[in-house]
Amino acid sequence: MPQIIDGKAISAAIKEELKEKVEELKARDVHICLAVIQVGNDPASAVYVGNKKKACAYIGIESLAYELPEETTQEELLRLIGELNANQKVNGILVQLPLPKHIDENDVIRAIDPKKDVDGFHPQSVGALCIGQEGFVSCTPAGIIQLLKRSGIEIAGKECVVIGRSNIVGKPMALLLLRENGTVTVTHSRTKDLKEVTKRADILIVAIGKPKMITKEYVKEGAVVIDVGIHRNENNKLCGDVDYDDVAPICSAITPVPGGVGPMTIAMLMHNCVEAGNVR
Ligand code: NDP
Repeated sequence: MPQIIDGKAISAAIKEELKEKVEELKARDVHICLAVIQVGNDPASAVYVGNKKKACAYIGIESLAYELPEETTQEELLRLIGELNANQKVNGILVQLPLPKHIDENDVIRAIDPKKDVDGFHPQSVGALCIGQEGFVSCTPAGIIQLLKRSGIEIAGKECVVIGRSNIVGKPMALLLLRENGTVTVTHSRTKDLKEVTKRADILIVAIGKPKMITKEYVKEGAVVIDVGIHRNENNKLCGDVDYDDVAPICSAITPVPGGVGPMTIAMLMHNCVEAGNVR
């Protein structure tokens, strides 16, 4: 049977470490504060924002919630971000995506001070990652590196294949694996013979957004499989991009859905907030 990579336990351990660090910082009179902005009332976003606020409270980070109506203009949102950039008390700014259609997400992300860009989406943060400089890293791929390291899985020298090239998962994932000295291949919807490529992977990261697409035909025997996907199946149960029951028997380690990558995203957001406060 494969090693089941336990994202719940690993994220809980990271949160405990951060809680201690926040207490140490408080003792030095350094207080960490995250501003969370939500525009409109998308129910999924409301759940994500609620979970982020809960995690802040647990770790000892102050959170400021800005719940703005759907009809908020881009100008109003940019003005608020400008105020939060200037506010010395605020260390991190997070704008929950997606935004309503009349607001340009790229303009909004660019408006956040890179020193407060705890989501790691600002072009300066992405550029820093690309050229190996310090900066915030997108939370989901950063969490996957932690999952691998804390499960004792070596990345250096391994064939790593990433399925998906989105700005928030696939691309930063590839750069992080490269930083860890993996040999990295990125695949996408125009890749020819996807199975041929994915079967080379010692470590296969799947971020396609297609429920249960990856079956054992895509996976080399003994590979490590990380499933980023989150979907609800016909029975309203969570599932990933990987057909877990089909793939698990042939791999050496695998993340379940739920309880794999998902819990790591918030843990790494909290990590970035603590970093943001610590450098001040
Ligand atoms: P996107 O839809 O932005 O990107 C999907 C990528 O998969 C694209 O690069 C696309 O290629 C590629 N792709 C689509 N179909 C195929 C195919 N048939 N063969 C090969 N590649 C294909 O998704 P995200 O990266 O944002 O998210 C991926 C999944 O991860 C989703 O299920 C999402 O819900 C989940 N997610 C989970 C998070 C967590 O915390 N666990 C956080 C973020 C996302 P192309 O570029 O050519 O279109």
